[in-house]
Amino acid sequence: MTNSKSFSFEFFPPQTQEGANKLAAARKQLAVLKPAFFSVTFGAGGSTRERTLETVQQIQTDGYEAAPHLSCVGSTRENIRAILHTYKNMGIKRIVALRGDLPSGMATSGEFHYANELVSFIRVETGEHFHIEVAAYPEFHPQAKSPRDDLLNFKRKVMAGANSAITQYFYNADGYFRFVEECRKAGVTLPIVPGIMPIMKFSQLARFSDTCGAEIPRSIRKVLESYGDDIESIQAFGLDVVTQLCERLLAGGAPGLHFYTLNQSAPSLEIWKRLGI
Ligand SMILES: Cc1cc2nc3c(=O)[nH]c(=O)nc-3n(C[C@H](O)[C@H](O)[C@H](O)COP(=O)(O)OP(=O)(O)OC[C@H]3O[C@@H](n4cnc5c(N)ncnc54)[C@H](O)[C@@H]3O)c2cc1C
Repeated sequence: MTNSKSFSFEFFPPQTQEGANKLAAARKQLAVLKPAFFSVTFGAGGSTRERTLETVQQIQTDGYEAAPHLSCVGSTRENIRAILHTYKNMGIKRIVALRGDLPSGMATSGEFHYANELVSFIRVETGEHFHIEVAAYPEFHPQAKSPRDDLLNFKRKVMAGANSAITQYFYNADGYFRFVEECRKAGVTLPIVPGIMPIMKFSQLARFSDTCGAEIPRSIRKVLESYGDDIESIQAFGLDVVTQLCERLLAGGAPGLHFYTLNQSAPSLEIWKRLGI
C-alpha cells in the first residue's frame, strides 16, 4: 500500500497528570507509525485552551508535528490573534480551524460566527504560514439547512483559504465517495481525509453519534446492541468493521486517514497493523 497518503492522529488535552502520562505513552506508541501530524482538540473554556497549548508543546518537544485545533466559540479577534502568533513563534505549521459548538449555558458564539470567518482571519493575520485544515461532513452537519447549503458553506471555507479537510467520522464509505464527488462537481479540489472513529464502547459511540449527526448503520448498530456489556465482542466486531471501512476508503482513493484516538493507541495500532500500511 502506498505511503504517500497522509495519516494522522487526534488527541484531546488531558485534564489530570495521570491522563497526561497515559497520553504521553499512547503518543510514543503511535509515533512509531510516523504520522504526518498529531492534532489536539480545543474547547470553549480558558483552562481547556491552556491544556491544548501544553499538549501541543509536549508533542513538539518530543519532536513531532503538532496541529492545534482552534475554534470560534467564545473567541475574540484579539485572543485568536494572540494564539496564532504564539503558535507561529513556536514553529507550528498546521492548524485545524473550526467553528466549535456552544457548550450548554454559554450564550454567545464569539466574534466569529462560522469557520470560514476564522479561516479568512488566519490568512489575513499570518498569510500563508499555516496549512489550514477544516472540517467536512459527508453525512451533513446537523445544523445545515440542506445538503446543498452545507456543501456551499464547506466551499466558503475552502475559498477563504483552507488547504485540506478532515471529515466527521462515518461508517458508510459510499457516503464519503458521494460527498467527494459532489465537492469535485462544485469545483472544490482540496484533499478530503476521512476521520476514523474506532469502535470501543457502544453506548459512548451512540451518544457521540446522536450529537454530531454521524450515522451508525443499522447493520452495525444492531450487532453492537446485541453484545450488551460484552466489551470484547464489541471491540472485535468494531475492529473488523473499521478495518474494512479503511480498506475501502484507501482503495477508493481517499488521500489518507485521520484517527480520532480518544487518547488511546491500541485500536488505531491494531487497525494500522491489519491494513498493512
Ligand atoms: C475534524 C474535526 C475536528 C473537530 N475538532 C473540534 C475541536 O477541537 N473543538 C470543538 O469544539 N469542536 C470540534 N469539532 C466539532 C465542530 O466544531 C462542530 O462540528 C461544529 O458544530 C461545526 O464546526 P465547523 O467548523 O464545521 O463549522 P462551520 O463550517 O462554520 O459550519 C457550521 C454550520 O453552519 C453552516 N454554515 C457554515 N458557514 C456558514 C455561513 N457563512 N453562513 C451560514 N451558515 C453557515 C454549516 O452548513 C454548518 O451547518 C471538530 C469536528 C471535526 C469534523
